[in-house]
Amino acid sequence: MAEVLVLVELDPAGGPRKTTLEALTAARVLGEVSAVVIGAPGAAVGVHDALAEHGAATVLVAEHPEIEDYLVAPKAEVLAQLVADRSPAAVVIPSSPEGKEIAGRLAIKTGSGFLTDVTEIAADGTATQVAFAGATIVHSQVTVGTPIYTLRGNSVTPVPAPGAATVVTVPVTVSEAAKATRVVERVVEQKSTRPELTEASIVVSGGRGVASAANFALIEALADSLGAAVGASRAAVDSGFYPHTFQVGQTGKTVSPQLYIAVGISGAIQHRAGMQTSKTIVAVNKDAEAPIFELADFGVVGDLNTVVPAATEQIAARR
Ligand SMILES: Cc1cc2nc3c(=O)[nH]c(=O)nc-3n(C[C@H](O)[C@H](O)[C@H](O)COP(=O)(O)OP(=O)(O)OC[C@H]3O[C@@H](n4cnc5c(N)ncnc54)[C@H](O)[C@@H]3O)c2cc1C
Repeated sequence: MAEVLVLVELDPAGGPRKTTLEALTAARVLGEVSAVVIGAPGAAVGVHDALAEHGAATVLVAEHPEIEDYLVAPKAEVLAQLVADRSPAAVVIPSSPEGKEIAGRLAIKTGSGFLTDVTEIAADGTATQVAFAGATIVHSQVTVGTPIYTLRGNSVTPVPAPGAATVVTVPVTVSEAAKATRVVERVVEQKSTRPELTEASIVVSGGRGVASAANFALIEALADSLGAAVGASRAAVDSGFYPHTFQVGQTGKTVSPQLYIAVGISGAIQHRAGMQTSKTIVAVNKDAEAPIFELADFGVVGDLNTVVPAATEQIAARR
């Protein structure tokens, strides 16, 4: 059976990220999955069981003390070496910013075609992508080299399937070429207790209609009642209501949660580009003609200052 390499993204809190379990699930249609753990010594500790539960036949462990010191270049080198040594049928990588950069470098190193942000992979290697702000669904196949895919988060539900997860240690050398850019300092980002925006199952986003930074407390309270992440439209972040890192849309983050709640957001095409593959969309807007209602599965026409606290209260009462 053909081998498919899946790059493991590690969760700083321990274990593999959910995006890795999604990639393992998507990759299984292409062949027998080998999960690739690349990191500093000890990186693979604590990930084995989750990889075994999600179908990894092999766990390729590539650890080196310098591997985290030079951005992504050493990781791309390790993957390129594995592609040369093992001739896999494909490589699947989570579509994070780091994953996409590794995939691009890998494609150049191996002379391979690369499909980014795919939402599905078929058994014949055909990938599905959403293009032109969601207006077009594209089906593509790689015709050159080893197909490389990055899988958009939340596109695939992780499905457990037992795998042997036999551990194989991979020798690593970090070349001088990979040492061109050295990490000189790491600063731990202050994170909220809310889920990461691009990985959350539920996202509550606020727009210009929220009207102020202080009023975003309504959005946060609704999000917290649902265990959701908070997002924002560009108009909201440009107005200083919420930090730019939470912007959803064409020039912000792309999300695809089970439930997306758009509050005080009109539904401009550039906002839709980042959220329209959400499974269920709920809109709260005082304007019944707002374009977001064309996209929404459920809509509430009303003032968010009334609707949102009432919804938060009802949800809290049911918990
Ligand atoms: C190149 C480019 C890239 C862009 N990228 C992005 C992007 O990544 N993400 C993004 O979001 N936008 C992006 N935009 C901007 C986009 O075109 C819109 O301007 C923006 O999405 C509008 O944000 P909004 O819906 O919050 O604001 P508005 O369009 O002003 O809508 C506010 C909505 O709130 C409603 N409302 C007001 N008060 C209340 C109330 N009390 N209760 C209920 N509803 C209320 C109004 O009826 C209205 O529908 C981009 C634009 C360009 C040109």
